[in-house]
Amino acid sequence: DREQRLPGEASALPVAFCVPAYEGGTGLPRRVRVAIDGPAGAGKSTIAQGVAKELGYTYIDTGAMYRAVAYRAMKAGLDVERDAEAIGDLAGTLRFEFRDLGGERRLFVDDEDVSEVIRTPEVGNLSLPVSAIPAVRQHLLVEQRRGATAGGSVMEGRDIGTVVLPDAEVKVFLTATPQERARRRQVQLQEKGISQDLS
Ligand code: C5P
Repeated sequence: DREQRLPGEASALPVAFCVPAYEGGTGLPRRVRVAIDGPAGAGKSTIAQGVAKELGYTYIDTGAMYRAVAYRAMKAGLDVERDAEAIGDLAGTLRFEFRDLGGERRLFVDDEDVSEVIRTPEVGNLSLPVSAIPAVRQHLLVEQRRGATAGGSVMEGRDIGTVVLPDAEVKVFLTATPQERARRRQVQLQEKGISQDLS
């Protein structure tokens, strides 16, 4: 809903939320870029998926893209420390595509459906050092911006509002209490079959 206020009255909403609802003259709803930043476990991807579904926007899962680079590096037998340069080069050759299949959002890399394999603990662990390689970040930044150019997209991740889409029309910083973040993290690990004590 758009904010209702008297002329001259200070806006209670962050400026980013006061975007025009309609594209000038076309009568068509304006399709904006939504950037959601925040710490791990705050619920960014759950919210991003829900918002995208509600608005009929594209959800771009940037974490999945880092995971996919890690998976392809592993498949190519590359070592994250020894072969960082080669992993950076590899990231520049990959073609990413999110496709909706049977109501599910799936990630294809060079036409291979990697949606399941990127969720394994091995790939998850490797994605952290892989995401620290500057050339990998640079290549994925280009792909992510390309994915968002048409608007009507929701992107989430730790650097989205600051680095990838600093000019996004809507920016959200999502956080939660440490207890809630730890609880969410535990549920996620349990889903992967790993149990962890919260205390
Ligand atoms: O969120 P997810 O666990 O899928 O992210 C996979 C990896 O990619 C994590 O190590 C995360 O830190 C990294 N990542 C990143 N920048 C993003 C999104 C994820 O470095 N925008």
